[in-house]
Parts: sequence; C-alpha cells; structure tokens
Amino acid sequence: MKHALELNNVTASYGHGSILHGIDLAVPEGGVTALLGANGAGKTTTLRAICGMIETHGEVRLFGEEITGKSPETIARMGVAHVPDGRGTFTSLTVMDNLRLGAFTAKKRGNFQRSLDRVFDYFPRLKERVGQHAGTLSGGEQQMLAIGRALMAEPRLILLDEPSIGLAPVIVKQLFEILDQIARDAGVSMLLVEQNSNLALKLASNAALLEVGNLVARGTAEELSQNQEIARAYLGDV
Ligand code: ATP
Repeated sequence: MKHALELNNVTASYGHGSILHGIDLAVPEGGVTALLGANGAGKTTTLRAICGMIETHGEVRLFGEEITGKSPETIARMGVAHVPDGRGTFTSLTVMDNLRLGAFTAKKRGNFQRSLDRVFDYFPRLKERVGQHAGTLSGGEQQMLAIGRALMAEPRLILLDEPSIGLAPVIVKQLFEILDQIARDAGVSMLLVEQNSNLALKLASNAALLEVGNLVARGTAEELSQNQEIARAYLGDV
C-alpha cells in the first residue's frame, strides 16, 4: 500500500525531555486516518513534529520522500496543510483574505479561482460571508474557514487538530460529512486528531492510539472500534 505519510521511530521534544517516544505511524494515500488518545497523549505534538514545528528525530516521509528536519515552509510547499487546534484563522482579516493567505503555498497560481470555487462548493456559508472579519464568525464557521484555507493550498495531506472541539453536535455532524466528501472526491489524505473517538472512527478508515507519547494500537477503524480494551477506555458505552 502506498503511504501519504510514514513516521518511523519518531521522537520529538519541546527542548527538554521527549514527548513522543519513538512512534511508528502510517497514513495510507486517500481517506482519513484517525489519531486518538487522551488529553496530553501527544496528538498535537505529533502533528507539530510532522509539520517541522518542533525538534524531531527519526524518520518522517511524505509520499516516500524524507521531510524530517525540513522547515515548516518547505513542508507546507511540499503539500502538507495544517489546521491547528484553536483553528488559527486571522481574526482581524476577512474571510476572503484568510482564504487568499491559504493559497500562498499553492503550486500553481492560476488555480486560485478553481480552488476558491471548490471551497465555496463545500462551504457555501463562507461565500455568503467573504467580507466578514474571521473573528466575528461562529465557531463552526471559523472551523470551516480553517479547513477552507487549508484547501486553498491544494494540499496532498491535511493534518486536522480536533476540528470538533467546542462545536455543537449538529454542526460537528455536518462538518464531518463535508470532511468525508473532501477526502472522497479531492483525493486528499487526512490525518485527523480527535478526542471524540466514536466520531473519528466513523469517518476514518484507519486509526492509531497514542498513550503518553507511545503508539499503543493501530489498525483499521473497525479493528480499533471492536477492541474491547480500547472501547472501555476511549469509546464509552457505545
Ligand atoms: P490535548 O488533547 O489535551 O491537546 P494532546 O494529545 O494533543 O492533548 P499534546 O498537546 O501533544 O497532547 O501534549 C503532550 C505533552 O506535551 C503534554 O504533556 C504537554 O504538557 C506537553 N507540551 C505541549 N506543548 C508544549 C510546549 N509548547 N512546551 C512544552 N511542553 C509542551
């Protein structure tokens, strides 16, 4: 199987003591892989390590090419878009300007309008609000904008950090349906960090589980959903 992303024996730290202790993770090309784990397990840190934002050792490969130690700008140009937790939109800029900034790393400038049309197809709400400052959007709209901005870069891989956080269940459901659609028709691979494991396992085809910086389980989403121990610890009574 071809991999969009591979992590081999990856360790990462914020300068003192490692947070990831040699993790192996693979994201197959196309579709969604969920990275699950409790608070503080190292999910956000894993995404930061992939993006080149923190000191990382081991091997990170993007479509077979080693990217370990490269700068965040280079990794973005190579096709990785990061939707950080807290969304990271520029609140004092308009929706349109946020989307323009997203296109900054796009390979072909000429595709701007096509990318924009595609984002508006997925998120018609953003089209209605192009001139509005991002800071005045609802939580759900800001999350749409963060994802729309990532799509403007025409990425091959999107890293999503807890897109469901702080959103009402009905909004989360809509958002996850759109993510499913994006993964299906745009052929973009996604690594989805979620604390809401039930939700993530419904969307994902594959999943992995982190526990205090160690990867303790991985497999298909179905395998992880059926694992009794995981179900007890992470999935509640469903
Ligand atoms: P959550 O769901 O709560 O965000 P997480 O699985 O994403 O959890 P991380 O944010 O990756 O976990 O945190 C893993 C560990 O790294 C935690 O112990 C945290 O305190 C530590 N950590 C996170 N950011 C920093 C930082 N900037 N400097 C030092 N330590 C950090």
